[in-house]
Amino acid sequence: MKKNKLPSTNCHLQSATRNLQSKKGKIHSFETFGTLDGPGIRFVAFLEGCPLRCLYCHNVDMLDMKDYKEMTPEQLLQKILPYKPYFKSSNGGVTLSGGDPIMQPDFAAKFFTLCKKEGINTTIDTSCFTTQENLDKLLPVTDLWMISLKHFNEKKHLKLTSQSNKQILENIAYLNKKHAPIRFRYLILPGWTDTWLNLRALRKFLKTVKFQEIELLPYHTHGIYKWEALGLPYKLKGVKPPSENSIQKIKKMLEKEGYNVIC
Ligand code: SF4
Repeated sequence: MKKNKLPSTNCHLQSATRNLQSKKGKIHSFETFGTLDGPGIRFVAFLEGCPLRCLYCHNVDMLDMKDYKEMTPEQLLQKILPYKPYFKSSNGGVTLSGGDPIMQPDFAAKFFTLCKKEGINTTIDTSCFTTQENLDKLLPVTDLWMISLKHFNEKKHLKLTSQSNKQILENIAYLNKKHAPIRFRYLILPGWTDTWLNLRALRKFLKTVKFQEIELLPYHTHGIYKWEALGLPYKLKGVKPPSENSIQKIKKMLEKEGYNVIC
Protein backbone atom coordinates (compact mmCIF):
# COMPACT_ATOMS: atom_id res chain seq x y z
CA MET A 1 0.00 0.00 0.00
CA LYS A 2 1.25 3.49 -0.81
CA LYS A 3 2.16 5.27 2.43
CA ASN A 4 0.67 8.68 2.95
CA LYS A 5 2.52 11.51 4.60
CA LEU A 6 1.42 13.51 7.62
CA PRO A 7 0.63 17.08 6.60
CA SER A 8 3.59 19.41 7.01
CA THR A 9 3.89 21.51 10.17
CA ASN A 10 6.18 24.18 8.72
CA CYS A 11 3.50 26.84 8.60
CA HIS A 12 1.67 25.96 11.78
CA LEU A 13 2.26 29.20 13.60
CA GLN A 14 1.14 31.18 10.56
CA SER A 15 -1.93 29.00 10.13
CA ALA A 16 -2.73 29.36 13.84
CA THR A 17 -2.64 33.11 13.29
CA ARG A 18 -4.89 32.77 10.25
CA ASN A 19 -7.35 30.92 12.44
CA LEU A 20 -7.69 33.99 14.64
CA GLN A 21 -10.14 35.39 12.12
CA SER A 22 -12.37 32.33 12.28
CA LYS A 23 -15.54 32.83 14.30
CA LYS A 24 -16.60 29.20 14.23
CA GLY A 25 -14.70 26.36 15.82
CA LYS A 26 -13.73 23.23 13.94
CA ILE A 27 -14.81 20.44 16.23
CA HIS A 28 -14.03 16.78 15.71
CA SER A 29 -16.08 15.18 18.49
CA PHE A 30 -17.37 15.41 22.08
CA GLU A 31 -17.28 13.42 25.27
CA THR A 32 -20.09 14.22 27.68
CA PHE A 33 -18.98 12.56 30.92
CA GLY A 34 -15.20 12.68 30.69
CA THR A 35 -13.22 11.85 33.82
CA LEU A 36 -9.70 11.69 32.37
CA ASP A 37 -9.16 15.19 31.01
CA GLY A 38 -9.13 17.43 34.06
CA PRO A 39 -10.78 17.53 37.49
CA GLY A 40 -14.26 16.13 38.16
CA ILE A 41 -16.82 15.28 35.51
CA ARG A 42 -16.11 17.13 32.29
CA PHE A 43 -17.61 17.91 28.95
CA VAL A 44 -14.69 17.46 26.57
CA ALA A 45 -14.71 18.98 23.10
CA PHE A 46 -12.00 17.65 20.79
CA LEU A 47 -10.94 20.35 18.37
CA GLU A 48 -9.42 19.67 14.99
CA GLY A 49 -5.82 20.50 14.17
CA CYS A 50 -2.51 20.29 15.99
CA PRO A 51 0.81 22.08 15.45
CA LEU A 52 2.77 18.91 16.31
CA ARG A 53 3.06 15.51 14.71
CA CYS A 54 3.88 13.14 17.58
CA LEU A 55 5.02 9.70 16.48
CA TYR A 56 2.68 8.12 19.05
CA CYS A 57 -0.37 10.31 18.45
CA HIS A 58 -3.55 8.38 19.18
CA ASN A 59 -5.71 11.09 17.58
CA VAL A 60 -3.89 11.22 14.26
CA ASP A 61 -7.26 11.54 12.51
CA MET A 62 -7.72 14.98 14.11
CA LEU A 63 -4.50 16.63 12.97
CA ASP A 64 -5.13 18.07 9.56
CA MET A 65 -8.47 19.86 9.91
CA LYS A 66 -10.27 17.74 7.33
CA ASP A 67 -13.04 16.04 9.25
CA TYR A 68 -14.98 18.41 11.50
CA LYS A 69 -18.23 20.14 12.20
CA GLU A 70 -18.34 23.88 12.59
CA MET A 71 -19.93 25.52 15.61
CA THR A 72 -19.94 28.99 17.06
CA PRO A 73 -18.85 29.39 20.70
CA GLU A 74 -22.48 30.19 21.55
CA GLN A 75 -23.70 26.95 19.95
CA LEU A 76 -21.12 24.90 21.84
CA LEU A 77 -22.13 26.59 25.09
CA GLN A 78 -25.79 25.65 24.51
CA LYS A 79 -24.69 22.05 24.07
CA ILE A 80 -22.89 21.92 27.41
CA LEU A 81 -25.34 23.86 29.60
CA PRO A 82 -27.54 20.80 30.39
CA TYR A 83 -24.48 19.21 32.05
CA LYS A 84 -23.87 22.12 34.40
CA PRO A 85 -25.36 20.37 37.48
CA TYR A 86 -22.86 17.50 37.01
CA PHE A 87 -19.99 19.96 36.84
CA LYS A 88 -21.10 21.58 40.09
CA SER A 89 -21.50 18.35 42.04
CA SER A 90 -18.10 16.99 40.93
CA ASN A 91 -16.00 20.17 40.71
CA GLY A 92 -15.79 19.48 37.01
CA GLY A 93 -16.31 21.67 33.97
CA VAL A 94 -15.35 21.84 30.31
CA THR A 95 -12.11 20.80 28.67
CA LEU A 96 -10.97 21.75 25.23
CA SER A 97 -8.75 19.02 23.88
CA GLY A 98 -7.92 17.67 20.45
CA GLY A 99 -5.77 17.70 18.41
CA ASP A 100 -4.69 20.85 20.16
CA PRO A 101 -7.20 23.65 20.83
CA ILE A 102 -4.32 26.12 20.78
CA MET A 103 -4.71 25.98 16.97
CA GLN A 104 -8.06 27.76 17.32
CA PRO A 105 -7.24 30.38 19.95
CA ASP A 106 -9.99 32.89 19.14
CA PHE A 107 -12.70 30.27 19.24
CA ALA A 108 -11.30 28.73 22.44
CA ALA A 109 -10.98 32.12 24.16
CA LYS A 110 -14.50 33.18 23.20
CA PHE A 111 -15.98 29.86 24.30
CA PHE A 112 -14.14 29.96 27.63
CA THR A 113 -15.31 33.55 28.15
CA LEU A 114 -18.92 32.36 27.79
CA CYS A 115 -18.24 29.46 30.17
CA LYS A 116 -16.78 31.78 32.79
CA LYS A 117 -19.90 33.97 32.57
CA GLU A 118 -21.87 30.81 33.41
CA GLY A 119 -19.53 29.98 36.29
CA ILE A 120 -18.16 26.90 34.51
CA ASN A 121 -14.58 25.73 35.12
CA THR A 122 -12.39 25.78 32.00
CA THR A 123 -9.41 23.58 31.15
CA ILE A 124 -7.25 23.49 28.07
CA ASP A 125 -5.33 20.38 27.07
CA THR A 126 -2.41 21.60 24.98
CA SER A 127 1.21 21.16 23.95
CA CYS A 128 1.70 24.92 24.36
CA PHE A 129 3.38 25.20 20.96
CA THR A 130 2.02 28.57 19.94
CA THR A 131 2.63 32.31 20.04
CA GLN A 132 2.63 34.40 23.21
CA GLU A 133 -0.16 36.43 21.65
CA ASN A 134 -2.38 33.34 21.65
CA LEU A 135 -1.53 32.56 25.26
CA ASP A 136 -2.56 36.08 26.21
CA LYS A 137 -6.00 35.53 24.67
CA LEU A 138 -6.59 32.44 26.77
CA LEU A 139 -4.90 33.44 30.02
CA PRO A 140 -7.76 35.44 31.58
CA VAL A 141 -10.40 32.76 30.95
CA THR A 142 -8.53 29.49 31.53
CA ASP A 143 -8.76 27.87 34.96
CA LEU A 144 -6.33 25.07 34.27
CA TRP A 145 -3.60 24.55 31.69
CA MET A 146 -2.93 20.87 31.12
CA ILE A 147 0.39 20.89 29.32
CA SER A 148 1.93 17.79 27.76
CA LEU A 149 5.68 17.64 28.22
CA LYS A 150 7.13 15.67 25.34
CA HIS A 151 10.93 15.50 25.63
CA PHE A 152 13.66 17.66 27.12
CA ASN A 153 16.34 16.99 24.55
CA GLU A 154 15.67 19.42 21.71
CA LYS A 155 16.81 17.02 18.95
CA LYS A 156 14.74 14.16 20.33
CA HIS A 157 11.76 16.48 20.75
CA LEU A 158 12.08 17.38 17.11
CA LYS A 159 12.27 13.73 16.12
CA LEU A 160 9.34 12.77 18.33
CA THR A 161 7.00 15.67 17.56
CA SER A 162 8.35 17.37 14.41
CA GLN A 163 9.05 20.61 16.30
CA SER A 164 11.67 21.95 18.69
CA ASN A 165 10.78 22.28 22.38
CA LYS A 166 12.31 25.75 22.65
CA GLN A 167 9.14 27.74 22.20
CA ILE A 168 7.13 25.38 24.40
CA LEU A 169 9.55 25.82 27.29
CA GLU A 170 9.54 29.59 26.80
CA ASN A 171 5.75 29.57 26.83
CA ILE A 172 5.63 27.55 30.03
CA ALA A 173 7.97 30.08 31.66
CA TYR A 174 5.67 32.85 30.43
CA LEU A 175 2.56 31.15 31.84
CA ASN A 176 4.41 30.73 35.11
CA LYS A 177 5.22 34.41 35.20
CA LYS A 178 1.50 35.07 34.76
CA HIS A 179 0.64 32.66 37.62
CA ALA A 180 -1.39 30.38 35.36
CA PRO A 181 -2.52 27.17 37.12
CA ILE A 182 -0.70 24.28 35.46
CA ARG A 183 -1.00 20.53 35.44
CA PHE A 184 1.77 18.80 33.51
CA ARG A 185 1.13 15.61 31.61
CA TYR A 186 4.05 13.31 30.97
CA LEU A 187 3.79 10.38 28.62
CA ILE A 188 5.96 7.44 29.64
CA LEU A 189 7.25 6.21 26.31
CA PRO A 190 9.73 3.35 26.76
CA GLY A 191 13.15 4.10 25.31
CA TRP A 192 12.27 7.76 24.82
CA THR A 193 10.91 9.52 27.88
CA ASP A 194 11.69 6.95 30.59
CA THR A 195 15.45 7.14 30.12
CA TRP A 196 17.63 8.19 33.02
CA LEU A 197 18.79 11.26 31.08
CA ASN A 198 15.30 12.49 30.26
CA LEU A 199 13.98 11.81 33.75
CA ARG A 200 16.91 13.77 35.16
CA ALA A 201 16.05 16.63 32.80
CA LEU A 202 12.40 16.40 33.85
CA ARG A 203 13.31 16.71 37.53
CA LYS A 204 15.62 19.61 36.78
CA PHE A 205 12.89 21.35 34.79
CA LEU A 206 10.21 20.81 37.44
CA LYS A 207 12.43 22.56 39.99
CA THR A 208 12.25 25.71 37.89
CA VAL A 209 8.46 25.99 37.53
CA LYS A 210 5.38 26.29 39.67
CA PHE A 211 2.65 23.75 38.94
CA GLN A 212 -0.17 22.00 40.75
CA GLU A 213 0.47 18.41 39.81
CA ILE A 214 1.98 16.12 37.25
CA GLU A 215 0.03 13.37 35.56
CA LEU A 216 1.83 10.27 34.30
CA LEU A 217 0.33 8.74 31.18
CA PRO A 218 1.52 5.33 30.02
CA TYR A 219 2.15 5.00 26.29
CA HIS A 220 -0.45 2.76 24.66
CA THR A 221 -1.02 1.37 21.21
CA HIS A 222 -4.80 1.85 20.95
CA GLY A 223 -4.48 4.50 18.25
CA ILE A 224 -2.34 2.50 15.79
CA TYR A 225 -5.40 1.37 13.83
CA LYS A 226 -6.06 5.03 12.92
CA TRP A 227 -2.57 5.35 11.39
CA GLU A 228 -3.16 2.16 9.45
CA ALA A 229 -6.59 3.31 8.29
CA LEU A 230 -5.02 6.54 6.99
CA GLY A 231 -2.20 4.62 5.30
CA LEU A 232 0.41 6.33 7.48
CA PRO A 233 3.61 4.60 8.60
CA TYR A 234 3.61 4.05 12.38
CA LYS A 235 7.26 4.50 13.30
CA LEU A 236 6.98 3.27 16.90
CA LYS A 237 5.92 -0.24 15.91
CA GLY A 238 7.40 -2.68 18.37
CA VAL A 239 7.51 -0.22 21.28
CA LYS A 240 5.55 -1.77 24.12
CA PRO A 241 3.60 0.11 26.83
CA PRO A 242 5.62 0.65 30.03
CA SER A 243 5.38 -1.91 32.80
CA GLU A 244 3.43 -1.10 35.96
CA ASN A 245 6.72 -1.37 37.81
CA SER A 246 8.38 1.32 35.71
CA ILE A 247 5.38 3.66 36.08
CA GLN A 248 5.45 3.20 39.85
CA LYS A 249 9.20 3.86 39.95
CA ILE A 250 8.78 7.19 38.14
CA LYS A 251 5.79 8.05 40.34
CA LYS A 252 7.79 7.39 43.51
CA MET A 253 10.75 9.35 42.19
CA LEU A 254 8.55 12.41 41.62
CA GLU A 255 6.66 12.02 44.89
CA LYS A 256 9.99 11.93 46.69
CA GLU A 257 10.60 15.43 45.32
CA GLY A 258 7.32 16.48 46.99
CA TYR A 259 5.19 16.67 43.83
CA ASN A 260 1.55 15.72 43.59
CA VAL A 261 1.56 12.87 41.06
CA ILE A 262 -1.53 11.58 39.30
CA CYS A 263 -1.33 8.21 37.61
S1 SF4 B 1 0.24 17.07 20.59
FE1 SF4 B 1 -1.31 15.49 20.97
S2 SF4 B 1 -2.77 15.66 19.28
FE2 SF4 B 1 -0.91 16.75 18.68
S3 SF4 B 1 0.27 15.28 17.52
FE3 SF4 B 1 0.98 15.20 19.63
S4 SF4 B 1 -0.22 13.59 20.59
FE4 SF4 B 1 -1.27 14.15 18.67
